[in-house]
Amino acid sequence: MSIQRPKGTQDIIPGTIEKWQFLEEQIRKICSEYGYKEIRTPVFEATELFQRGVGETTDIVNKEMYTFMDKGQRSITLRPEGTASVCRAYTENKLYALQQPVKMYYLGPMFRYEKSQAGRFRQFHQFGAEVLGGEDPLVDAEIICLIWDFFGRIGLKGLVVEINSVGCPTCRAEHRIRLQEFLQERKDDLCPDCQNRFTKNPMRILDCKNSSCQKLTENAPTTLDTLCVDCAEHFAKTQEYLNIAGIAYRINPRMVRGLDYYQKTAFEVTAEGIGAQNAICGGGRYDGLVQEIGGPATPGIGFAMGLERILSVMEKQSVEMLPEVEAPVVIAALGEAARQEGFRLLGDLRQAGMPAVMDLLGKGLKGQLKYADREQARYVLILGDDELARKMVIVRDMRLGEQQEIPLDQIKAFLLNHTKCEM
Ligand SMILES: [Zn+2]
Ligand SMILES: [Zn+2]
Repeated sequence: MSIQRPKGTQDIIPGTIEKWQFLEEQIRKICSEYGYKEIRTPVFEATELFQRGVGETTDIVNKEMYTFMDKGQRSITLRPEGTASVCRAYTENKLYALQQPVKMYYLGPMFRYEKSQAGRFRQFHQFGAEVLGGEDPLVDAEIICLIWDFFGRIGLKGLVVEINSVGCPTCRAEHRIRLQEFLQERKDDLCPDCQNRFTKNPMRILDCKNSSCQKLTENAPTTLDTLCVDCAEHFAKTQEYLNIAGIAYRINPRMVRGLDYYQKTAFEVTAEGIGAQNAICGGGRYDGLVQEIGGPATPGIGFAMGLERILSVMEKQSVEMLPEVEAPVVIAALGEAARQEGFRLLGDLRQAGMPAVMDLLGKGLKGQLKYADREQARYVLILGDDELARKMVIVRDMRLGEQQEIPLDQIKAFLLNHTKCEM
């Protein structure tokens, strides 16, 4: 029996990879424009990092981690998300000694053991960014701008930014008391998950997807009701800056992000026309996290988005993706002498920066022209004994269906000229 890839993984093969590359190019481009530098951290880390950095009460840590003992009896986990690793790297590499804030982005595979279903992968890919060492609300606004701009550039439609403030440990303690008071008599009607949350993390009951929980908590106090002066001011300033940037945001007091360490600003971007689970990006401020995993007290904020999800939304919204693929020059050579000359020419053209290929299987002329067609060649250079003897080459323009003879020593200049003119 042939070996198959593990459940929940995918091969991204030619024909599909172009979309990924397009997306990745756009990501790198916009991050560089916004002054974010790339960071690459290991795909596995000490399990404790995620237990402390993502939080013991989260589904990620409780149910979804790929954890194993390595041969040195260390508990290792394949990273389920990027933020904890970036914060660890910030501390370990003493990035706090650099000019602050440090703005970084990452792009790469993440691993979660999820129930296998359409659109859910156990190895999936995320683009995320983190800003460490900046507590000003302008940081919050800028990172939301980056996301907004990015989605605009790749052509997504019907987007809404939802923002909320979940407060700081001080004002959240107040909220927790008020919420528990409110829920006390309704507790037994909550879903099992929420009954569990009632003591562990009651705030999360507010964003339960269960409709009866939503109804029960309709008039529950939100974190906005109990914001302290500092948090309220931060939230107001963030909105002011978003207004200046012209971002269409909506305040959603029930939006509570899933991770334990969020503070103050939380945000999500939703897209229309993709069904109920319409969030395509989420993030928030996590001022306590770096310290939680053993670093110096450092404010931080970040977001992450799943690339599989973005690509599927682009498909659902019929967004045209036009990866710029330059049509190659194909050399069709007949006979060994011509093949050798063709092989030499191939190197010349590639040196000049032109994509160029030739048949590698020793096909006849007809087969080579078919090959050129499938490669979507713009030009085919035909080279046989006769042309070789006269130091000429036949250039066939596949788009116009015309051909002409050009001296071999002028072919490079001819192609450079003609491919440039099309730009
Ligand atoms: Zn507060
Ligand atoms: Zn619930």
